[in-house]
Amino acid sequence: MIPQQFVEEVQSRTDIVELISSYIPLKRAGRNFKTLCPFHGEKTPSFMISPQKQIFHCFGCGEGGGVFQFLTLIEKVTFPEAVEILAKRLGLSIPYEKGKITKEKTVLYEIMEEAASFFHNNLKDVKEHQPVINYLEKRGITKETINVFRIGYAPGNNSLLNHLRKQGFTLENLEKVSLVLGGTAGFRDLFHNRITFPIFDVRSRIVGFGARLYKDIPDSPKYINSLENILYSKREHLFGLNFSKDEIVKLNSAVIVEGYLDMITPFMHGIKNIVASLGTALTNEQIRLLKRYTSCVILIYDSDKAGQLATLRSVDLLLESDLKVQVAALPSGYDPDSLIIKKGKDVLFDLIEKRQDFFDYKLGVLRNIYDSGSIEGKTKIANEMLATINKLNSEIEKYEYIKKLALNLGVKEEIMIAEFRNTFSKNNAAPKKTFVASVQKNESYGLANEPLTITEKVIIKSMLNNPKAFSIVKKNLKEEHFSSYLAKKTVSFLFKSFSEEEKCSLQKILGVINDKEVNKCISEILMDDDIPLDKEIFKDSLLKLRKKAALQLKNNLRGKIKEAEARGDRQKLSQLINEYGQIR
Ligand SMILES: [Zn+2]
Repeated sequence: MIPQQFVEEVQSRTDIVELISSYIPLKRAGRNFKTLCPFHGEKTPSFMISPQKQIFHCFGCGEGGGVFQFLTLIEKVTFPEAVEILAKRLGLSIPYEKGKITKEKTVLYEIMEEAASFFHNNLKDVKEHQPVINYLEKRGITKETINVFRIGYAPGNNSLLNHLRKQGFTLENLEKVSLVLGGTAGFRDLFHNRITFPIFDVRSRIVGFGARLYKDIPDSPKYINSLENILYSKREHLFGLNFSKDEIVKLNSAVIVEGYLDMITPFMHGIKNIVASLGTALTNEQIRLLKRYTSCVILIYDSDKAGQLATLRSVDLLLESDLKVQVAALPSGYDPDSLIIKKGKDVLFDLIEKRQDFFDYKLGVLRNIYDSGSIEGKTKIANEMLATINKLNSEIEKYEYIKKLALNLGVKEEIMIAEFRNTFSKNNAAPKKTFVASVQKNESYGLANEPLTITEKVIIKSMLNNPKAFSIVKKNLKEEHFSSYLAKKTVSFLFKSFSEEEKCSLQKILGVINDKEVNKCISEILMDDDIPLDKEIFKDSLLKLRKKAALQLKNNLRGKIKEAEARGDRQKLSQLINEYGQIR
């Protein structure tokens, strides 16, 4: 943990105009500065920086915040990492508050590091481990690859256990990171006769190992991995991301494969924006991690049935997360590693070059499963395609793909739209996501896009500018009094972060916000000079919100009262009427 006081010091010593202008040229515009937004494509500048308030806000895409928030976006780092970077610029070192957990973790990382060195050094002992080295050479794994990825060899027979014990690490800690297993037979190494691949986190710390047999042993699985432990959760990691993240950002695209060598071999042959999922289908956590670096994903998976199904599942998840998805299908019997080793890297490059849009890929797969000439087949294909199209966030895209699907299947556009509406506007858990339904009901479909009312804006702006207003709001309003999603979220964040007595200042707020949506909301309100800061208007707005909430409550109760009346439930009725009378 970084002490909050230190965060505030770093913040107060960093000037936002200076910081942003070290990335992009700025132009003065009255009291503010403006420039083309670095976070979305635009031709006229709507990215504003206020030197007085020390904030930025883009009126095009909505991104905003203070110095830390700018860094998290432009450098794709976490909030604490942003603090670290700015501290470094200022020549300050961070006085970490080392909690018990961080201290414990530090030891565990040391153990992993030592284990990796032990495994890696084994490969330098040519005499002892010649068969392993021969095997690696045969697989096309060069010395350079071994050094870059710190590939190693685990002989087993408690050689690691003994080595780490000699270094003074406790059995308890070795078991915690699952390098040794406990049990009735005593402690023993987890990996025997296996080639080891360290699993790094994004900051290049080792959190686990993957281990592969180098010769077949009956009844032994080809690969085993570290068990989940305090440093490593399989769902949250992407293998190789620490090596490829810079290139992923640079190209704004990430190639995703399945296994260790499927990542390593193409990487060593020049595909530098590649990561491995280490599982068949991507998880939501992995996708969230990926989204920090890119908005565009290329999936390369096996063309067998299991591979296709995993690809299709991943496609839906990625689209749901608003990522652009393309697929490169491997020739059957190959993975990216074996394709390069047996056929040369150009074949894989070519395959990636010829990748398909998610739509064409899925349609191709479905056409192989169902007979698109029959009515039944056509219906099945249409329904599966529409389910995926429904995952898209953009209404325009949905419409375009439905048109394309109609054309491909030889069905009239209106019919396809009707089919889409039938399937996704009823019984669907997320009707707001289907474009036909939203057009019909004429409602805004993304809750997060719902604009704040001017009343809400006035109240939040007053809270941000005046500690007195903050405590008045905290005493008189609750999160539920606000109606738009973003206002609710922002207010609840402010309430949670600051007590009534605490002087809540804008500087303090910018030192703690670590949420994109709250950033956007606060920076927009602060930059908008049309929102008045006036005592009377503030009071009026407060009353208005309370009245509105009371009215809603009353309406609600009135409905319940009617129901109770109809049921003849006297007890409930008198209770409800009582409640009604107490609302003010
Ligand atoms: Zn923007």
